[in-house]
Amino acid sequence: MLFIALKDFLCQISSPARPEEVWPQIETHSLFKRYSRQWERLSSRRRRKAWEQLGALITKVGYATRPYCIRCGACCRQGSPTLYQEDAFLLHSETLSKRDLFTLRVGELAYSNEEGRLVVVKKEAIKIKEINGRCCIFFDEKNRSCTIYKFRPLQCRVMACWDPEGFKTLRKKRPLQRKDIIPVKYPLWEIIARHERRCAVTQMRTLLKRNDKERLQEMAYYDLQTRHFLKENFQINPQEMDFYLGRPISTLIRLYQGGE
Ligand code: SF4
Ligand code: SF4
Repeated sequence: MLFIALKDFLCQISSPARPEEVWPQIETHSLFKRYSRQWERLSSRRRRKAWEQLGALITKVGYATRPYCIRCGACCRQGSPTLYQEDAFLLHSETLSKRDLFTLRVGELAYSNEEGRLVVVKKEAIKIKEINGRCCIFFDEKNRSCTIYKFRPLQCRVMACWDPEGFKTLRKKRPLQRKDIIPVKYPLWEIIARHERRCAVTQMRTLLKRNDKERLQEMAYYDLQTRHFLKENFQINPQEMDFYLGRPISTLIRLYQGGE
């Protein structure tokens, strides 16, 4: 079974290596030997853990056979990048505009590349918008390429699926936030701050847990009204709204319903 998993993985990453050539590295590994000896005696919980560890071993050994980028676009389809301070120039140079971005607010759930799972966002971040909640809007599916490749953000530049160390370099970097982009004295700040208080994601998730439909509805209505107000009174382009206020509460409710 593990051999098939290895074969599938090599195929998935378009490795030039044949599974038979790579298999000895798995077979002779201490982890494989240990679990082969103990397998029958393992509880289902330990077996799950063993699979996870053996899966990680296959990933490591597999990627060692293809330690370079083949521009397959799999990473672009799995999610868009978070922007860092180093990416601010992309906005100044108009490679990116507010229409291309959305704010990931505190309390939202986001996939952590480093941890390989969904985590609660502790600090606000700005991300490039996604299609169907996954694929980066700058990924050209037809040509399987990035339409802003020369100016792709920092996270895309350090992305190396074969080497998770790349992402660790981002730990010391500061994510870009709304306050880095919107001028301090901008009149919208008061409205954004009020919206943050009335439509906090943590509060929304608590209401979802309690199934408090009435207050969720109130929150979604307030969010909608704020968007309408910004459009009418500040001529904010509706496409920029997810940057100023984050994704609509109604969207977040749909996203998190059932997952709580
Ligand atoms: S870095 Fe991204 S595009 Fe390059 S091979 Fe890995 S998944 Fe594909
Ligand atoms: S900006 Fe380009 S490289 Fe980065 S995720 Fe989007 S399509 Fe991929």
